Amino acid sequence: MSTPASLRFDIAILGGGVAGLWLLNDLRRRGYSVLLLETHALGGGQSIASQGMIHGGIKYSLAGALSGASEAIAAMPDYWRRCLSGAGDLDLRQARVLSEHFYLWSSNAAGSRVTTFLASRALRGRVDAVPAAERPPLFREPAFQGSLYRLVDLVLDVPSLIAALAAPWPDAIFSLADVPQRWARAATGALQLELDTPDGRLCLAPAAFVCAAGAGNETLLAELGASAPAMQRRPLQQIFVRHRYPHALHGHCLGRETTPRLTVSSHPAGAGEQVWYLGGTLAEEGVGMAPAALIERARRELAELLPWVALGADARWGTLAIDRAEPRQHGLLRPDQAFADWADCPGNALIAWPTKLTLCPNLAAQVAARLAARGIAPRGGATPALPLPPPPLAATPWQEAFDD
Ligand SMILES: Cc1cc2nc3c(=O)[nH]c(=O)nc-3n(C[C@H](O)[C@H](O)[C@H](O)COP(=O)(O)OP(=O)(O)OC[C@H]3O[C@@H](n4cnc5c(N)ncnc54)[C@H](O)[C@@H]3O)c2cc1C
Repeated sequence: MSTPASLRFDIAILGGGVAGLWLLNDLRRRGYSVLLLETHALGGGQSIASQGMIHGGIKYSLAGALSGASEAIAAMPDYWRRCLSGAGDLDLRQARVLSEHFYLWSSNAAGSRVTTFLASRALRGRVDAVPAAERPPLFREPAFQGSLYRLVDLVLDVPSLIAALAAPWPDAIFSLADVPQRWARAATGALQLELDTPDGRLCLAPAAFVCAAGAGNETLLAELGASAPAMQRRPLQQIFVRHRYPHALHGHCLGRETTPRLTVSSHPAGAGEQVWYLGGTLAEEGVGMAPAALIERARRELAELLPWVALGADARWGTLAIDRAEPRQHGLLRPDQAFADWADCPGNALIAWPTKLTLCPNLAAQVAARLAARGIAPRGGATPALPLPPPPLAATPWQEAFDD
């Protein structure tokens, strides 16, 4: 087969989760010519499965001290709020905010050390005790006897975030579904990606590839013959329940441990229903459990922690097993920043994991710094139009499960 002509431009992003889409927006803003390729659906990996919390790190401080992780992430809620108001680096006015606050409530089992820490001066302005008159409706019930705190964190509707990040770039986002592809190398050693499109073979020859494919980065690294950076997976089994109970819940429940015993976010589901999405320790300990057994455990947990809440006999339950994909850490620890570094094979492939949706701005800063350090600056050319369709937007786990 003849060698196809090379398409030269600045950056090709592989992966259309929140990281790839955020990077597309950020790099275009910086003047790069950038296109994004997605194999499946936009947001369809971890992003659509996430709880949409943009958090300032307090949940990592429950051990009783402000750690490096909590300091690195502390600036993020303000950064996102500026974008959501249209005054930030990215325009996210089309993304929907589900809750301006995330709450922490203590069960009777919460240790006094944690509650003393939460009330301490170190956290003033980031965690505030909520007076009874300002409580959200769900916590106004007389049966609620614990303490309630309000965090600076906010909760986003992830489908609308994905749509808002993709909307400005209809000419730069392409589907790789059913498109045979192979890596090649230019005489310089630079990587190229050959695509067999319906209109013939194309050869993408950007100055850099940014692999933002979530768990798919592991496969990309293997295809490239790279051994670093290595990836780790931290598995979860989340639980979701679709019901007609009228009040939303966005909060962590504190137990005796230093991680939230239960984390709940609430998501619109239409037809007068909503979905409560349950994570935290429940989802970590649920890994490997049969879904029915985990659902039973979740029912018991809700009955114990929120005894006045009745979700109704017609509530529909499901679970989602999914891995968090991250750069490998010593002892499988949670990384405390976003990550971007060059693959250790010859060529120009940058490997990126945000490690949290919240940390996308931190990821974008790291990617920009890595490109600049290699002298990869915007060259002022146009982004090529590929003869490929756009990928669809991903459905939520509950839309997938309940087929609506
Ligand atoms: C259950 C759960 C809850 C979470 N909750 C939160 C939260 O509340 N707040 C928070 O800050 N973080 C949260 N996170 C973490 C957050 O979701 C992730 O860090 C973030 O979504 C990762 O985004 P990503 O774009 O890197 O990966 P993904 O969202 O996984 O996207 C990767 C994309 O790449 C595509 N792809 C794969 N291979 C290729 C290829 N070869 N070529 C092209 N495309 C490819 C996939 O189809 C997918 O669309 C949560 C994670 C999980 C699992």
